[in-house]
Amino acid sequence: MDLTESAEDRAFREEVRTWLSDHLTGEWAALRGLGGPGREHEAHDERLAWNRHLADHGWTAVGWPVEHGGRGLSLWQQVIFHEEYARSNAPAGVNHLGEQLLGPTLIAFGTPAQQQRFLPEIVAVRELWSQGYSEPDAGSDLANVQTRARRDEATGEWVIDGQKVWTSLAHLSDWCFVVARTEPGSTRHAGLSFLLVPLEQEGVEVRPIEQLTSGSEFNEVFFTGARTSGDLVVGEPGRGWGVAMGLLGFERGVSTLGQTVGFARELDAVVARARTNGAIDDPVLRDRLARMKTELAVIRSYALRALALVEGGQDSAAGGGAGSIFKLAWATWHRTLGEVAMDVAGRDGLLARDSGASYDLDDQQRLFLFSRADTIYGGSDEIQRNILAERVLGLPKEPRG
Ligand SMILES: Cc1cc2nc3c(=O)[nH]c(=O)nc-3n(C[C@H](O)[C@H](O)[C@H](O)COP(=O)(O)OP(=O)(O)OC[C@H]3O[C@@H](n4cnc5c(N)ncnc54)[C@H](O)[C@@H]3O)c2cc1C
Repeated sequence: MDLTESAEDRAFREEVRTWLSDHLTGEWAALRGLGGPGREHEAHDERLAWNRHLADHGWTAVGWPVEHGGRGLSLWQQVIFHEEYARSNAPAGVNHLGEQLLGPTLIAFGTPAQQQRFLPEIVAVRELWSQGYSEPDAGSDLANVQTRARRDEATGEWVIDGQKVWTSLAHLSDWCFVVARTEPGSTRHAGLSFLLVPLEQEGVEVRPIEQLTSGSEFNEVFFTGARTSGDLVVGEPGRGWGVAMGLLGFERGVSTLGQTVGFARELDAVVARARTNGAIDDPVLRDRLARMKTELAVIRSYALRALALVEGGQDSAAGGGAGSIFKLAWATWHRTLGEVAMDVAGRDGLLARDSGASYDLDDQQRLFLFSRADTIYGGSDEIQRNILAERVLGLPKEPRG
């Protein structure tokens, strides 16, 4: 497989790099490095303004087809865009769930009216989205969703009752895509629907969850007679499972490749600290740091190869499971980096900065704590291994309760 960049792709990389360095100046320069998992509280409004600036110049939804308002980039150019974006240390996007997950899902499964209503708002970053999948008893076992929705015969609207949990950024979102049970008495995958629900209404209560990393990035969301219009169901009513799973396929898409550039920067910062505080002289730590460097290079190469296989429709021919393998590899790597960072920090890693009523974490303390979540969200390690065992290796299914 030839991974050499063509002259056209090299020129595109140069174009992205130049645009970002020309624009990340003045008031925007102060936003470099802000936001992202574990740091979503940082400069949200300013990052929203930066995202709209990107949109004004055609740098949002870069992988979407042009007819849906995207830039229609090839897969490799999307990788280049996300890598250069991360390399420039530009602030993290504020509408990952709308742009990377819901948009592609509406393009694949939505009606023309739904596409016309929602896609332009996502491209322009005028409406922000959250994901209402998990519930207190439906996380890994998503088919156990208990949130219910019924039709109001007088108005044709959907009326929703139930509770979601771990709903990232719901407190900053305008809308939520919700998996709800719409056929009374149905169980498991049958009878579920994929609904688009406005959050700004009386029947919705968003309660932020306080995190160990300080701040609140995710929430409990309570629906009590909440309403959404009758036509805001994606796919057929009762057949939402297929739509919900289609969306998860986009979750492990191209944008995650850009994060390996961010990981490299985090590793560089850990190495820099080791040089400063003398930890670099510890032969065991030196060995672990070198190992992290090697593993990250292997993960990036694997991801590029996997993307090429998926793009060429050859993933199943090569055994399948590329998304699960990539998720397992990067999540475990990143969590280990957090542990190495704490060992490099030594005793200093144990002390949080006192900032009055609360406490403040340095970048590496935050990395250590937040990376514990990497092996949980987007499908936990155990679930990825189940997928590989059962669907790829063809091992017997584990007993289900
Ligand atoms: C930072 C973060 C952000 C999130 N954002 C969102 C969001 O925006 N929207 C949303 O809907 N959800 C979100 N989630 C929730 C996430 O999808 C769930 O946490 C995840 O699916 C696991 O579900 P659970 O927490 O209910 O754990 P459980 O499913 O209860 O699992 C508990 C443990 O048991 C293991 N386990 C479960 N089933 C099996 C099995 N069959 N075989 C082997 N082991 C098993 C799991 O791996 C885990 O270790 C987020 C989570 C985190 C950490």
